[in-house]
Amino acid sequence: MTDPSRLLAQLAAHLGADHVLTDPADLAPYLAETRGLQRGHALAVVRPADTEAVAFVVRACAEAGVPVVAQGGNTGHVGGGLPQGGIVLSLARLNRLRALDPVNASITVEAGMVLADVQAAASAAGMLFPLSLASEGSCRIGGNLSTNAGGTAVLAYGNARDLVLGLEVVLADGRIWNGLKGLRKDNAGYDLKHLFLGSEGTLGLITAAVLKLYPRPISRSVAFVGLTSAEAALALFRSLRAEAGPALTAFEYIAPFGLEIVLRHRAGARRPLAGSHAAYALVELSTHRPGEDAGALMEVLLARAQDQGLLDAAALAASEAQANAFWDLRESLSEVQKAEGASIKHDVSVPLSRLPAFLARATQACEAEMPGLRVCAFGHFGDGNIHFNLSQPPGMDPAAFLAAWERFNRIVHDIVAALDGSIAAEHGVGLRKRAELARYADPVALDLMRSLKAALDPGNILNPGKVLSDEAPRVEVAPGPVSSGFLEGSTKF
Ligand code: ZN
Repeated sequence: MTDPSRLLAQLAAHLGADHVLTDPADLAPYLAETRGLQRGHALAVVRPADTEAVAFVVRACAEAGVPVVAQGGNTGHVGGGLPQGGIVLSLARLNRLRALDPVNASITVEAGMVLADVQAAASAAGMLFPLSLASEGSCRIGGNLSTNAGGTAVLAYGNARDLVLGLEVVLADGRIWNGLKGLRKDNAGYDLKHLFLGSEGTLGLITAAVLKLYPRPISRSVAFVGLTSAEAALALFRSLRAEAGPALTAFEYIAPFGLEIVLRHRAGARRPLAGSHAAYALVELSTHRPGEDAGALMEVLLARAQDQGLLDAAALAASEAQANAFWDLRESLSEVQKAEGASIKHDVSVPLSRLPAFLARATQACEAEMPGLRVCAFGHFGDGNIHFNLSQPPGMDPAAFLAAWERFNRIVHDIVAALDGSIAAEHGVGLRKRAELARYADPVALDLMRSLKAALDPGNILNPGKVLSDEAPRVEVAPGPVSSGFLEGSTKF
């Protein structure tokens, strides 16, 4: 690396000194991550205002051999935006709405726009941008795209990548790829946008995107359901999917311990159902056609399900406020877990048909491993994605509990692997899951990922050490002629 003070002077001259932060107090928020488990370090935080300035920063850093870590709202769960040296490139000032085309049903936004602002812009035009997650008031769309965020609308609309028509990306050498096309059909060569979506800032920096808009639902209905088991949850889900079709817009799962701690710690939270149940589901139906009332549909479908013995009890939200209160029970689960001490978190998916088996096996194995441990499983049941979190036994030293993280990773992830699932379903890999990815990913897939990284970022400038570890690959495949030099360790990242 050349003298970093020269690089910083060069960046300050281009961006303005106010947008090159080096004071430790200014840097602090960019060096912390949501869970506070790790702190990063960086030479500086830079805040370019437009794509040209982002390209300038990346080019200057590439020439100086200094890593660049892109950050949006810094709300990730796996340390993907945590700098380990180099420059933090904040995209917060690229927050403009560039265009909204109601006929094409698309919106073109810059990466730093807060997700809630994208939703609001769509709504102001009478349309829907469906991506929705707990941190939507502070996460930024560029971060959502670079992590392929999931959230609570995946069942109906897909993950973040499914909502993208086109991208603008700054490459590792500072070139700008303008792929901002609003096309729903385009088979002209490789679909490059998917390289950058979900790659956590390791292959290029997303600076703008064309996103899909949808018609807004006319009505929605939310119910909180008590069930006898996870198998019953699956049976209810299948019944609703068959009968409601696309009107089924959410099916979220909450294990009893989750509801218990929300009621204990969340201000204003009220028990949605009488009695206690072995499992809970939050069900949302949305309708789009005039005369179709989601509430009436919900009543008919849940009554039928109750007759068939698929559910124990159900409460239908009687108002929009109550619907929001039901959703709040689900969305505050991560937050309230902090009040129960340390937690070890897993973000996994399995084929839906195997989800009850996963829940039963993983719960039993974890409880057997550490008496007193509380399983806090919840999440996007309809997507096959569960946040399989473990709360420490009451009274245990939090540090001692967290020291068991590896042990529980092995237990939970081995079960996931045996069921053909994923150890990183929604939150990505970042720093925290990279060893797990190296352990569980198909060796050929890992080799392809490393080849892509080497091709797009040969200097290992972009978010180095994330997703793929810096260590030489563990893979033991017969190296082909193209990758052999690489596998021998000539390129590391
Ligand atoms: Zn989630």
